[in-house]
Parts: sequence; structure tokens; C-alpha cells
Amino acid sequence: MTLINHERLKNLLIELIKIDSLSRKEYDVAMRLKREMEELGADVYIDDAGEKVGGNVGNLIAHFPGSVSSAPPLLLSAHMDTVVPGEGITPILDGDILRTDGRTVLGGDDKSGVAIICETLRVMRDNHIPCSPVDVVFTICEEAGLIGAKCLDASRLRARTGLVLDSDSVGFLFTKAPAANRMEFRVYGLEAHAGVCPERGINAIKVASDGIAQMNLGRIDSETTANIGVVEGGMAVNIVPNRVILRGEARSHSQEKLDRQTEHMRRCLEEAAERYTLELDGKRHSARVEAKIERDYDRMDVPESAPIVKLVHAAAKNLQLDVKTLATGGGCDANVLNQKGLVVANLSTGMREIHTVNEWLDLKDLNLSAQMVFEIVKLNAMQKIEA
Ligand SMILES: [Zn+2]
Repeated sequence: MTLINHERLKNLLIELIKIDSLSRKEYDVAMRLKREMEELGADVYIDDAGEKVGGNVGNLIAHFPGSVSSAPPLLLSAHMDTVVPGEGITPILDGDILRTDGRTVLGGDDKSGVAIICETLRVMRDNHIPCSPVDVVFTICEEAGLIGAKCLDASRLRARTGLVLDSDSVGFLFTKAPAANRMEFRVYGLEAHAGVCPERGINAIKVASDGIAQMNLGRIDSETTANIGVVEGGMAVNIVPNRVILRGEARSHSQEKLDRQTEHMRRCLEEAAERYTLELDGKRHSARVEAKIERDYDRMDVPESAPIVKLVHAAAKNLQLDVKTLATGGGCDANVLNQKGLVVANLSTGMREIHTVNEWLDLKDLNLSAQMVFEIVKLNAMQKIEA
């Protein structure tokens, strides 16, 4: 027997899915959730992240006082924004399977996480179940590079540990995630008329291609991946192009391997540039590369011995469910929260085939995940704050 109200959970999820909330446009869904949180008895505030990232609303932070002050405060977090195409979503329910009409994503990423948190706290309140203080954080712009979470002032949270509900691997708790570097390379050549005097030009597209051809990309090893994802350049078919912009990334669970892979990609382009030189009217020209490399996010590495991991295992055991910890290749708000000194793992919600128009969700998975979160919150109230 569960206290989770499946009908209410489903209805809230569908209602939230129908509210458009692309990154930087989360205002409407934030207002709906503010109402929900206040109704449930939380102190709600919206931070200034929206102004910082050029969005129409900030992160929503809700403090639930809780009835058990001796238990450690718990963080529950999910993101409010969805990816494109994500406007005018028409959810279609076929038995227990929720999907779209094929024109948009479903937005179960991450409205499923949001709905689970709301339903859990409603059940706690309606049934007067002893509860620790809970901090809810609904972030903006997760899909735009975790920039909502990056703007979050963690000192305003009471909780030092908790869960992000934002994973598509049913039955798994993500405790490890890679660090990532974001790269932009500007490859410069020399412009010339392609028909009249091509010998007076250095083709930046060729230089870039040469460099890319030398790069190890894709899966580098079990911990490391790399990609060049965007190429922009050239003006016209009759102009030897003088500039190409490449955008790429590398990720690794090992900091050292990430540094090595990033350096490798930069070196490949620089070495290619060195191969293209030209003497023109007594002046020496050569291709060159400008690299802009930024840390996108740090790795997440929550140990098996962390109280939050133990709590999840204990909850799973109570429900006779099998939840395994796992490493993911993706980054999420949990990376940022761990970087800010919290201990946060990422639990699945039932969302599937995310970031595609085929995205779907099995309500049975959603319900199980909600039962898990409910059990976790319940068990957390029996913990004691460590001195
Ligand atoms: Zn997500």
C-alpha cells in the first residue's frame, strides 16, 4: 500500500508538461510551482539567476520547516526548463505510457522530477508524517549548460545533502558523472580569390580539417569522451576562407585524462596550422589557432558510504526494489551542487528517450520513483544530525 496518489501525480505531471518552459522562459511554470509550494506550507523565494542568465525568472527555492528538527535537512531538486522542440506540447496517454504527438519532446525531462517532489511533499503534509526540514530547488536553464544551478547561492540552503531527480535510467542512482571542458577553436588562414590567385591564400577549412583528422574523438576510453560538434566558416565558394570556428567538448571521470584529451585536441589544430605557411611579397604568413577552453562542470563522485546513498538503498530495500548506483556520461545539476560542497546524487524518474520527439514515460516507473522519494524523505526524518 502506498500513500502516493497516482492520479494526482499524473494530473500534475500533465499540467506541468502543458506549460511551455524552454530554457530562459520558465516564468509560467515557476509561478505555478510557487503556488504549489506555498500551498504546501513552504517559504518560497526566487533568486536572481534569471537576471544573470538573461531569463525571465530565477531558480525557485522552497524551505519546508519540517516537524522533526533533530533530523538533517534534505535537498530535493529538479529543473524546470525543457529542450527544443518543446513549445505547445500535446501529451498523449496510451494506457500507462505518456508520449507526445511526435512534434515535440515530452518534457518529462524534468517535469517528472518536479511532479514527484510536489506529490511527495503533499503526501507528507496531508498525512502528518514526521518530516525533516526539506529544501526544494527547482532550477532554471539546466539544459542551457547547468547555468541556473551555477548561479545558485548554496549558502541559502540548509541542506548539505540530497537528491536531484533528473535521470532516464530507471532503477539507477547516478553517483558518478564526468567533468567536462567546453572548447572553441578559431582557425585563421588567409583570404584570397579562389580563381584568380588561390596561391595567395591559406584555406582555413583545410587547416581545420587537417587538425580534426588527426584528433582522437568519440569514445576515448571507458572514462573519457570527446567531440567536435559544430563547424562554422567560409564566405563564398570563390573565396579561400580565412576563418573557421570549431566548437567541441571533452568529458572524463578522470581529471588528468580530461586535461590530456583537451590538450591533445588543441595540439592537433596547432600542429596543423604550423604546416600551412606562405611567403607573400617578402612577408611570411601562417595559419594560426586561437583556443578558448572553459571548464563546463566538475565531476561528481559521491561515495557508496555517503549517507544519501545509504538512505536510497535503505528505502529501496523497504520497498523491495532494486536500485543500483551507476556512473553516467552526462552532466546534470548534481555536478554543480557537488561542486558547491553539497553531497547530491541523481535518481531516475521514469523519463525515457529524452531530448528527442520520441520521449516517453511509463507512469508505473513514475509511481515507483515517487514511492522511492517518499520513502527516502520518511526515512530521513529518522536520521539524527551528526554532531
Ligand atoms: Zn534533465
